[in-house]
Formats: sequence, structure tokens, C-alpha cells
Amino acid sequence: MSTPIPTDPVVELTGGPVVQLPTAHGIFQTQAWHETLSGIEHLSVSVPVPAGSLPLVRVHSECLTGDVFGSYRCDCGEQLDYALAQVQQHGGVVVYLRGQEGRGIGLSNKLRAYALQEAGADTVEANEQLGLPVDARSYGAAAAILQALGLEKISLLSNNPVKAERLRALGIDVAETRHAEVPSRAENLRYLQTKRDKMNHQLTLDVSSQSSNKGKLA
Ligand SMILES: [Zn+2]
Repeated sequence: MSTPIPTDPVVELTGGPVVQLPTAHGIFQTQAWHETLSGIEHLSVSVPVPAGSLPLVRVHSECLTGDVFGSYRCDCGEQLDYALAQVQQHGGVVVYLRGQEGRGIGLSNKLRAYALQEAGADTVEANEQLGLPVDARSYGAAAAILQALGLEKISLLSNNPVKAERLRALGIDVAETRHAEVPSRAENLRYLQTKRDKMNHQLTLDVSSQSSNKGKLA
């Protein structure tokens, strides 16, 4: 049941000025990127890479509920925190892709999918029931930002093998992949199991301690 890997369109964008972004994780250099065709604006959050090291790269798709409100329905907010800490430590960049909410279906549709999940569907079935793609994200902007930053050979922080393949297809040399797994929670265990079982995400998930949640979102 393997699905063909989508081809990402090449994206043209322009970068704004580089400014300092002091955060709880330390000081980053940040830059906004404006997509010429769509007008969507993305953000890169960088730390200089020590000589001889591969830049550590996290390509993070916007998730308002997880990133801003700290929702435990998914692991996005915790993954973003983890990525910022790792990039601060090793040097590299978090590329924050906007317009990719809910794996690309938008905020309203994501909440519609949540409603279906509360009625028993998993995250993949919910999108299918809505007649929406399971994953409509695209990585053309991420590749264009990495190329503009001169980061074309990278260490990718991701659990999603497809992301590495799609970046490679766009000309980025993903020399290695590092796992970005954060501990699961009762509230997101089923979501993460679905990502592992149906979307091939490389998650270990310690289900032994949480097996009572298997099959149902609490
Ligand atoms: Zn999320």
C-alpha cells in the first residue's frame, strides 16, 4: 500500500533582513521569507554552524494548536521546542513552514478532522472521511530557503523518511537523519501510533506503559 512520493514544485521566494531573536533557548538569527506566487511567508531561525559540522536542520510545518497553544493532541509543540534546543546546541536552522496547518488541510479542516477523531476515526481516516488529502504538505519552500542560506548538505532532524526523500529530490543533500522523537502522552499516543503505522514515521513509542490507551483517544 505504498503511495508514490509527490513531486514538490520549485518555489521562488525572497528573504528579508536577518535580525536577532532572543528566546528561552538562546539567541537565534531569524529571517522571513516571502513566496512570490502564493504570498505565504515562512521563517528561518538559525544558529551559526561550527566549522566542519553539518548544519542540523528541522523543517517544521506550522501547527497553531500545538506550537502556540501547546496542544497535546499532537507532538508538534514539543518537537518544535526540542528542535530549537538542538539547533541552538549544534548549529543549523529551524525552517518554519507556514500555510501547512493540519498537514496542509488548513486550521478549520484540522478541527473538523479532530471532531471525527473524537467520534472514533484516526488521523488518516478523518482526513479521508472529509475527502481531503492525508498529507498535502509541500517542501519546495523549505528547499529554496535552505539553498538561499547556503545549507545544501544537511543533517535532518525528522522521523519522517519521506521528508528526507522529498528534500533530496529538490536538490538538498540530506547526509544523515537524526530522530526527533519526544515522549508520547496519553492524549497523543493514538495519533503517533497512526503516524507510525500508516505514514511510516520512525517512532519507537513506549506503548508498554500506555497500552490501556491503545485504539482510543482519551
Ligand atoms: Zn500539531
